[in-house]
Amino acid sequence: MVMKNYDLLIDRIAKSAGLERDEVIRKVEAKKAKLSGLISREGAAQIIAAELGISFEDQDLKVSELMAGLRKVNIIGKVMRLFPVREFEKNDRKGKVANFVLADETGSTRVVLWDVNHIALIEDGTIKEGDVVEIKNGSTRDSEIHLSSFGEIKKSGIEMGEVKSAPVSSEIVLSEAQQGQNAKVRGVVVQIFQPRFYSVCPNCNKKVLSGEDGKFKCAEHGEVEKRDRAILNFVLDDGTESMRVVMFSDQINSVVPEDDLKDEAKASAFRDDFLGTEIYLTGRVNRNQLFNNLEIVANHVERVDVEKLIEELDKK
Ligand SMILES: [Zn+2]
Repeated sequence: MVMKNYDLLIDRIAKSAGLERDEVIRKVEAKKAKLSGLISREGAAQIIAAELGISFEDQDLKVSELMAGLRKVNIIGKVMRLFPVREFEKNDRKGKVANFVLADETGSTRVVLWDVNHIALIEDGTIKEGDVVEIKNGSTRDSEIHLSSFGEIKKSGIEMGEVKSAPVSSEIVLSEAQQGQNAKVRGVVVQIFQPRFYSVCPNCNKKVLSGEDGKFKCAEHGEVEKRDRAILNFVLDDGTESMRVVMFSDQINSVVPEDDLKDEAKASAFRDDFLGTEIYLTGRVNRNQLFNNLEIVANHVERVDVEKLIEELDKK
């Protein structure tokens, strides 16, 4: 169950049913209690919505309002990043799939296209990065919008201002993590692995290969002075489960200067300090193909500031 923003869901139910927000929240809490806490509050809110006859189908939704299992999603957003069209073979049938990141003012999500006519719009450049598109009759799977031949996608004439390109994430516990989800977790670092390094081109940040002459070559920029970038793996435990987390350079710098990891003494000091630290982690839940288990690819890590938390609690 992926509901990305509980508050927006409550707002939508309240508005549609003509109820006060507090009343909706009371109903949701009562439902959750009745089901002995077996479902999340978002799940309980969906049940309340259904009981009140509110449908989230065939409505114009914002990215933050998406939830799993919707069959008729209409949404307008800006294409932030297009991925290369992939071809696949399944049961002797060849197919194509395309996907891109769509953002509106509430967040971003991934859109997956399965229909050749839709995919052609990307292949022929009709839809490109930066364009605003209108999607009709999409369905949601995990935290993505999937568009079959029953769906529609077209370039929109609507002007869109600032969009929020960070994925909307829901705070979850690790035992409930699902593949494809953008998750926010609070947990403790219980194990840290030795950092690994790989070499990139200083101009384009793409991986470089070393030739027989020991020099490094970028596919685009030729012979370059390589730059070493780090990958840091650690294990996070939130009390329900522990999960491996993968951090790349940009995120590593939010907890330690990346270059410190190349220095053995500094790296070891960092590990001593980071081990046992409580953090907020935002990232995408992925299946590790090699080990066939779930892991989180971090896109934001922040140490939990206990004093600040207490201050905020006191305010309430
Ligand atoms: Zn390059």
